[in-house]
Amino acid sequence: MSGRLTKALCAPLLDWFEQHARVLPWRENRDPYRVWVSEIMLQQTRVEAVRGYFTRFMEVFPTVDALAAASEDTYLKLWEGLGYYSRVRNLHKAAVRVCEEYGGVVPRDYDTLCTLPGIGDYTAGAVASIAGGQRVPAVDGNVLRVVSRLNADERSVTDPKVKADLRAQVAAILPDDPGAFNQALMELGALVCVPNGAPQCGNCPVLHLCAGAHTGIAARLPVKALKKARTIAPRTVFVLRWQDKVALRRRPERGLLAKLWEFLGTDGTLPPAEARAFLGEHGLKVAQMRAMQPAKHIFTHVEWHMTGYYVDLAAPPDDPSLVLVTPDALRADYALPSAFRAFLQVLE
Ligand code: SF4
Repeated sequence: MSGRLTKALCAPLLDWFEQHARVLPWRENRDPYRVWVSEIMLQQTRVEAVRGYFTRFMEVFPTVDALAAASEDTYLKLWEGLGYYSRVRNLHKAAVRVCEEYGGVVPRDYDTLCTLPGIGDYTAGAVASIAGGQRVPAVDGNVLRVVSRLNADERSVTDPKVKADLRAQVAAILPDDPGAFNQALMELGALVCVPNGAPQCGNCPVLHLCAGAHTGIAARLPVKALKKARTIAPRTVFVLRWQDKVALRRRPERGLLAKLWEFLGTDGTLPPAEARAFLGEHGLKVAQMRAMQPAKHIFTHVEWHMTGYYVDLAAPPDDPSLVLVTPDALRADYALPSAFRAFLQVLE
């Protein structure tokens, strides 16, 4: 039988947070635009990776109006390497809506935030509680783990009913500063009640209230239903060089990495003879071709296993979908997903 959260958690957790909260650029103030952008960046991305991206993004787009007015190429380039590009596309769409419908003032209430593109239950809760002081929970994976452990709750946190129950439990104990409390729970999950390994219960401010630690089962919580295995997708990628330039093309309008730039590529693993034949079919004349180190990239549901060829062309490509750019321009102006980063080394 699992326990339930109690209000007794609030004071020790808030004291701990006051003393141990990391100094992070988005915590300088509680401006809703900054909180919102940081929460979107932090989805599925480590805090350390986000720091630099957040600072650069705020330099270029210091206000929601600046983001709303931005071109797609500009915001995609700033997001390059962070992955999950639909996040920034939705952020931009939502910024446009905020300007059109709310006069450029980011809403601070949970229900309105939930109507904006890319803002789900968690992000709305974080922005509304941190920037708006609204008494709503913000429950992400970190919080689910901490709460399961505190309660010694062995139910699966991937079950929507369990998630809803844990969320309701957090909502029921929120103190006067719900934003600080939500952040404190998340921070505890990031620094002390950590994933992948034993929680550091000896450093935990709420050890005395933790059923998981007292029953000795905390380290194996939370329980999660098994995930579906990722699909393995072999690909062949060509870094095409014509004189001092390299060829890029846009990915399709929809699907994985939609509309971002890429090197010419195709499904499957092509050995050298088939690779040459493929290039011939695209009207490309090869002067020299050599294999590069294979590379792997892991997406949420699929893994690309890539074979790469570096190709010196004997004539410029006449395929209109290919554009020739210098390596410097590629780095400065074209959003190339990190899936292709391994093949960039050949241009150094
Ligand atoms: Fe997590 Fe241990 Fe603290 Fe319980 S006592 S909340 S398991 S760190």
